[in-house]
Amino acid sequence: MTTMEILRELPPNWKQITETFDVDPATRVLYAYFPHIYNPTGFRVPPALVAHERVHLDRQRKDVVQWWQSYCDNMRFRLMEELLAHRAEYVAVCNHPGTNRAQKRAYLVAISKRLGSQLYGCKIRAKTVKALLPAMDDPAVMQKVLDMEESVPFNDGSVT
Ligand SMILES: [Zn+2]
Repeated sequence: MTTMEILRELPPNWKQITETFDVDPATRVLYAYFPHIYNPTGFRVPPALVAHERVHLDRQRKDVVQWWQSYCDNMRFRLMEELLAHRAEYVAVCNHPGTNRAQKRAYLVAISKRLGSQLYGCKIRAKTVKALLPAMDDPAVMQKVLDMEESVPFNDGSVT
């Protein structure tokens, strides 16, 4: 069994990432590359973000190279992976003792904006993410919301 570590360095596929995404190495971003989390800027990583990255690591376990290839090439794949990871992040915040309803709501808004932003190139609206994340335990709800999203013009998967 491999133990996950948070490493203060660029991920092994940094070249592939920069060829696909417009990322600045100085930006506070985490990268999951099985079996480790890469934190190039060394910022303090809150538990909710570890929960997020653990979802990616778990899904990369079978074939991390293929996972990253799909993540870079296929916007739909990327969107689904990020919805699952953001969902886990949101649940971690909700389960943290002492988090009140206002804080949960504010966090949901913040991560919905993040997933709806340029960072992921997913072309999903923040309000759709906001509706989707709390309902993801129900596959019918998830399908319905994603069907709704079909009406939004998606790009061809390129993000640059
Ligand atoms: Zn992610």
